[in-house]
Amino acid sequence: TKTDSLIERDQSNVWHHISPYVEENPAMIAVKGEGSWIIDYDGNRYLDGMSGLWCVNIGYGREELAKAAYEQMKELCYMPLTQSHIPAIKLAEKINEWLEGEYMIFYSNSGSDANEVAFKLIRQYHQQNGEHGRFKFISRHRAYHGSSMGALSATGQALRKYKYEPLASGFLHISPPDSYRRPDNMSIETFHSMLMEELERKIIWEQKETIAGVIMEPLITGGGVLIPHPSYLEKVQELCKKYGILLIMDEVICGFGRTGKKFGHQHFNIKPDIVTMAKGLTSAYLPLSVTAVKKEIFEKFKGTEENVHFRHINTFGGNPSSCAVALKNLEILEKENLVEKSAQSGIYLLEHLKNGLHSHPNVGDIRGLGLVLGIELVEDKFTKVPVSSKYMAKIVAECKKEGLIIGKNGDTVDGYNNILTLSPPLSSTEDDLNFIISVLMKVLQNNQSTQKVLS
Ligand code: PMP
Repeated sequence: TKTDSLIERDQSNVWHHISPYVEENPAMIAVKGEGSWIIDYDGNRYLDGMSGLWCVNIGYGREELAKAAYEQMKELCYMPLTQSHIPAIKLAEKINEWLEGEYMIFYSNSGSDANEVAFKLIRQYHQQNGEHGRFKFISRHRAYHGSSMGALSATGQALRKYKYEPLASGFLHISPPDSYRRPDNMSIETFHSMLMEELERKIIWEQKETIAGVIMEPLITGGGVLIPHPSYLEKVQELCKKYGILLIMDEVICGFGRTGKKFGHQHFNIKPDIVTMAKGLTSAYLPLSVTAVKKEIFEKFKGTEENVHFRHINTFGGNPSSCAVALKNLEILEKENLVEKSAQSGIYLLEHLKNGLHSHPNVGDIRGLGLVLGIELVEDKFTKVPVSSKYMAKIVAECKKEGLIIGKNGDTVDGYNNILTLSPPLSSTEDDLNFIISVLMKVLQNNQSTQKVLS
């Protein structure tokens, strides 16, 4: 094909962070995007069931965003936030409106960045409060929080154990809310109380006056779509308050309508101290991230004395064009009711997938909130032994052959890398959703794992 020589050039020059040269991810040279669809160099069309890496929330090819970037670049392409500019001010106000709270907005460039900012800021905050011993953070196994050293240390997946140790010290992990794999005959409520006991024990055993913060996504997304009981985060917040710990909500994936509310944590009755966001903030048209910090925390950083400055300099954070694109993106999400649409499309997908797939011998669980969906594949519904990684690769590859890009998530460290993930653009049409359903049904029905499992 025409693509072959480009692939050769790619293979000799481009270092990919996840290899496209494996079975489940055959190389594709993308040239164009339209709505929920990507078109490759040979003219093949793929429905992007993952919105890129969970980020192209309003879909591809939106001229309004290109125009917003163009207009702003012509006017003022750059201004460091040692000064200010109008898009940064307007966007900060808009984000506060979406958060329904009083937050100060700190800009940076990626989700990892936004979490690093949160960690540094919290450590400094406790110091300025005279609590010099508070430096540790608690997160969960299976959670992903980024690739830089601090964010990777908070991450609870196998990749943190790869070849990068020693990681930053003071990062601790507790069990994820994996309701599907809770002990037999235990109610979800009891299971979640056990998780909260684990969190409290961790705080106490690690010495409560050393814990600085807890970081969690509202639901674990990349770690396999693990959705907590509605009371879970409320209880987490209660424990944080009890022990003087700050709560960070990582909304890098869940923010901006992905879960069917403006922010994922709005499904729960909580007000986080810090909210980090990236991806869907600009629908990935330009890089931008935010660490939103409660104003009462910012009070400790106010003033002109040297020792109250938060020292996190960052050249591109709050880039005017990125802010202008984010503003336009939020305007479109509002105008087209995409947050509500995400909730409705999520219910539609979940119902159809449950109806069509519940009797499939390898489909152990189908779950989702808004447009974050997961299908957990097992060899046997009774033992819940995960399907092999080879089978997972085959399903993902066959979907791609049929024109559907889906994800494969979970974690290899515990062997549960067996969750198919789906997160199409919030703007997906009913035809798009029906296409996803029909391809998944066809591929799963044509491929049943027949591996014998001894129980
Ligand atoms: N937090 C979460 C929940 C994420 O999913 C990601 C990215 N997948 C990050 C943080 C890091 O974001 P980035 O890749 O922009 O650094």
